[in-house]
Amino acid sequence: SRYVFPFEQGRANQRDLLGGKGAGLAEMSYIGLPVPPGFTITTEACNLYQELGQFPDGMMDEVWENLRLLEQKLSRTLGDPEKPLLVSVRSGAPISMPGMMDTVLNLGLNTQTTEGLARLTQNRRFALDSYRRFIQMFGNVVMHMEHHRFEHILQEVKDEAGVTLDPDLSESYLEILIARYKDLVREVTGREFPENAHEQLEMAIKAVFDSWKNPRAIVYRRLNKIPETLGTAVNVQSMVFGNMGPTSATGVLFTRNPNTGEPGMYGEYLTNAQGEDVVAGIRTPKPIQEMAQEMPKTFQEITEVCALLEKHYRDMQDIEFTVEREKLYLLQTRTGKRTARAAVKIAVDLVREGIITREEAILRQDPDQVARLLYRQIDPSAKLDVLAQGLPASPGAASGKVVFNADEAEARGNQGEAVILVRPETTPDDIHGIVAAQGVLTSRGGMTSHAAIVARGMGKPAVTGCEAVRINLEEEVFYVGDVKVSHNDVITIDGGTGRVVLGVVPTVDPGLSEDFTTLLQWADDMKRLGVEANADTPEDAQIARDFGAQGVGLCRTEHMFMGQDRLPVMQKMILAETLEERQKALNELLPMQQSDFYGILKAMDGYPVTIRLLDPPLHEFLPNIPDTEKELALARQEQRTDDVVRLEAILRRARTLFEFNPMLGFRGVRLGIVYPEIYAMQAQAIFQAQAQLLHEGYHPVVEVMIPLVGTLAEFTKMKELIADVNARTQEAENIALPYKIGTMIEIPRAALTAGSIAEEAEFFSFGTNDLTQTTFGFSRDDAESKFLPHYLAEKILPDNPFMVLDREGVGRLIKIAVADGRETRPDLKVGICGEHGGDPSSIEFCHLAGLNYVSASPYRVPIARLAAAQANL
Ligand code: ADP
Ligand code: MG
Ligand code: MG
Repeated sequence: SRYVFPFEQGRANQRDLLGGKGAGLAEMSYIGLPVPPGFTITTEACNLYQELGQFPDGMMDEVWENLRLLEQKLSRTLGDPEKPLLVSVRSGAPISMPGMMDTVLNLGLNTQTTEGLARLTQNRRFALDSYRRFIQMFGNVVMHMEHHRFEHILQEVKDEAGVTLDPDLSESYLEILIARYKDLVREVTGREFPENAHEQLEMAIKAVFDSWKNPRAIVYRRLNKIPETLGTAVNVQSMVFGNMGPTSATGVLFTRNPNTGEPGMYGEYLTNAQGEDVVAGIRTPKPIQEMAQEMPKTFQEITEVCALLEKHYRDMQDIEFTVEREKLYLLQTRTGKRTARAAVKIAVDLVREGIITREEAILRQDPDQVARLLYRQIDPSAKLDVLAQGLPASPGAASGKVVFNADEAEARGNQGEAVILVRPETTPDDIHGIVAAQGVLTSRGGMTSHAAIVARGMGKPAVTGCEAVRINLEEEVFYVGDVKVSHNDVITIDGGTGRVVLGVVPTVDPGLSEDFTTLLQWADDMKRLGVEANADTPEDAQIARDFGAQGVGLCRTEHMFMGQDRLPVMQKMILAETLEERQKALNELLPMQQSDFYGILKAMDGYPVTIRLLDPPLHEFLPNIPDTEKELALARQEQRTDDVVRLEAILRRARTLFEFNPMLGFRGVRLGIVYPEIYAMQAQAIFQAQAQLLHEGYHPVVEVMIPLVGTLAEFTKMKELIADVNARTQEAENIALPYKIGTMIEIPRAALTAGSIAEEAEFFSFGTNDLTQTTFGFSRDDAESKFLPHYLAEKILPDNPFMVLDREGVGRLIKIAVADGRETRPDLKVGICGEHGGDPSSIEFCHLAGLNYVSASPYRVPIARLAAAQANL
């Protein structure tokens, strides 16, 4: 097999073999863009190297052969003192791992070739500067010497020369610098810096292969679920120089704004600079638009290349380029990472520009990422004391205590503390801290700096290049002007605008953008599943409706008894010793419930509202036992007789109602069976609200749902009770009150006997929270805090089954219930109302299982619409 391919022989679809960078370079060469020629060593070779511990047989022969062809093409030769060829050695995995792998530039320089380069370019300063950069990079990446040791010497020499900027170093000082770098190499590694260019190349290739296994690459792969087995390719590419003076430059850009999705190039460049100067955040670069004045011809050329690349790849691209004396070269292209907001806008714009189809636009959205669009932002009407303004590197608002190092951010973040990581700039070694922080603030670096890229990938707010922030790491403080912000002070950052604010700031939920609305309308045309919402209040129902819900799939009634004015009445009802007393309390609750139902049915007018009758155990409405005991003791001490009597009654009742395992206790339909008057009151409130709305000309669609049913007999009894109340209300209100009655399926027995339950039930709603609890025999609260994390860590379960529906077990019960239920009643309406109703993978399952609808929390409704469409494409 072949291990090496020149760029002109590869294509875009060979990512697995050539890596993302190699495939991109190949494709750009193929379509005729100016790419410095070179060749790619395959990922296959890398994997064999990992396996064998040495290069596979024949690989280096192919490298030398391809090098010879490259030399012929460019009329330069690696190591030739007269006309030296210089190359970069670049890693590139099939999945992009920004900043994770190491690249070596200017390879091929040694004492002699540096002089050759000086003669060729008639610029000895440039040649010497390239050489010192090469020693530094090669020393760091290939010989594993610490970066700061070189930086230290560089500073020393600058001090001796009396200059502050690198470009001000004269040739003679560069010579001194090179000599000291070589001394350092000898001192640290015990060997000479390699003069032989072929040896340099072989060592660099090996180092790139080795870098696949470096700790930060391993962390990145683990974080992003990238398989260890992919391996990295190595690209050997002839060098072009962005550091040849004022008409040379290097830069990175997105073909559209990766934050907002707005059309137009978005990026940065540095004149007279090389390679990673832009990304490293050492100098803050200029926005690409400035190039229109500085290098108009090149700017025009880049603009055209962007349009061409977008058409060709049919998506927004992220490119790296270098300009050598006004001549443009492309060094990389890949699909640009973007925020959720940009992903939506770009997809909608690309459809409008005729580049992609609506279906593609839908399929390109990551529902979990889109969920972030509905994340909180700083309240626009809040009066802000803006401390400093940086670059809006990754949107979202976050508040937290200031910490200055990644280890501390990790430790405290993982303890659940909200911290903001503040750094001059970040490096790949800071990733673990960024993961655990609420957000990142850096004083240096652009929109494409490491911190910005990593934060965007994680959906973390970030503000970068905030130059007003002067950080003193030793003292753990930063200053803005004369304002001092210390370790542990609270700040808020707004990564959407770049603002940094002292203290905590009020935030708001954003609405749907026009583009998002458009996209969701397309999704509605493509989906089969209905999307409803879980809503317990008219406000939630309205939000859900605004987000496109076609009904309320679950209206829980227990929250309606929790309000300040209602709880005492509810407690009176629970404490009642006789039916008469209880009925009195229920009569008081009735108008309150009725007004709730009225509001919700009205907000969802014309769409079904599925109202679940009381579900939780009654003791949840009583104060807890230890607190009541203390209160009682105090009342006795102070001889408050009335309070003593009242508290004694509550305590007696609370003790009677106490359950060891309330989750499997006296709740759901079991309450309805024992206290039918409670359900009767609720039914009456529902039907009276319905009548009221009908009288007013509305179109309420009522569905009554009985929770926790396990047997047909339970359901039948409740169905009769409700029918009775309905008949009486119709008569009293003198109006027809149609409704459907159905049940939740949340006990395995209900799923297994669904065929008979469907004889009476007109709809099923899978309460997958409880169904997961009862199927696994896990109590949710205990599982999540005690053993579930271990199960996930040890891969005993693939996902948290309360978040991602367990298809094998719970899913099987659902399938049985759907099949048996529909056999009895072909038009049975079936939906899901657990937390899973808003989870994309679970929604896909619901689609496949033939459910009629999913019900999600209001803010998940847009995600559910999108996921439902994707499931049907
Ligand atoms: P990364 O994957 O970290 O972005 P790259 O291999 O893309 O690393 O290299 C980083 C930068 O080095 C590039 O953006 C480019 O500016 C510079 N570079 C790489 N190869 C060359 C080359 N052949 N000529 C000039 N600059 C190069
Ligand atoms: Mg790159
Ligand atoms: Mg339940």
